[in-house]
Amino acid sequence: MRTTKTGSIFIISAASGTGKTTLVSRVIANHPEIRVSISHTTRAPRGGEIAGQHYHFIDPNKFEQLIDEGAFLEYAMVYGNYYGTSIEGVKMLQENGFDVILEIDVQGAEQVRRCLPEAVSIFILPPSFQILAERLRSRGTDEPEIIEKRLNKARSEIEQSLLFDYVVINDDLVQAEMDLVHIIKSHSLTQSKQQRFIENLLENS
Ligand code: 5GP
Repeated sequence: MRTTKTGSIFIISAASGTGKTTLVSRVIANHPEIRVSISHTTRAPRGGEIAGQHYHFIDPNKFEQLIDEGAFLEYAMVYGNYYGTSIEGVKMLQENGFDVILEIDVQGAEQVRRCLPEAVSIFILPPSFQILAERLRSRGTDEPEIIEKRLNKARSEIEQSLLFDYVVINDDLVQAEMDLVHIIKSHSLTQSKQQRFIENLLENS
């Protein structure tokens, strides 16, 4: 376990169909020092999703109890279900030195930016609307009207990218993964993130 630094928080948002989840899975598979926070949600698990690994699946009563207890760093209603980030879960990862990715929607991103201004925010863009529409259609999971709804929502979500610190275009998956890792790594090299090292160095000089 790495304990020499406190990890940073990286908010990652995108419109649905942009490939954000695949991208984040690749980053964490290839970089054990980066973890993704496991959200709580009231939506039902999809095929292949594992409780405690993809999400903590809970019922709406339990979710509302956690809201009342102040357990969430942020939470939002997305497509009729609650999703939220646990303060405790994020804190534990950070204290163990991991950089923490919050893979959350734009409403959650806004809340985190407000309460943790030091968090770094990254928006993932599709290369074009045409490609986004093709990706949503090729999933084969949604009816045409739902796809149209998702595309309309995507337009307003993409407008929010203006509020984010970084923008990564997911045209080529390997390049987009490298871009994300570069952002995360360069942040850990900022002077403020290395203050503890500098202090130790001077103490032992
Ligand atoms: P899905 O149900 O497809 O896994 O996720 C739907 C949307 O909810 C995605 O945009 C995803 O990033 C977002 N989401 C997942 N977890 C959280 C969370 O903890 N908070 C917020 N605000 N959004 C989340």
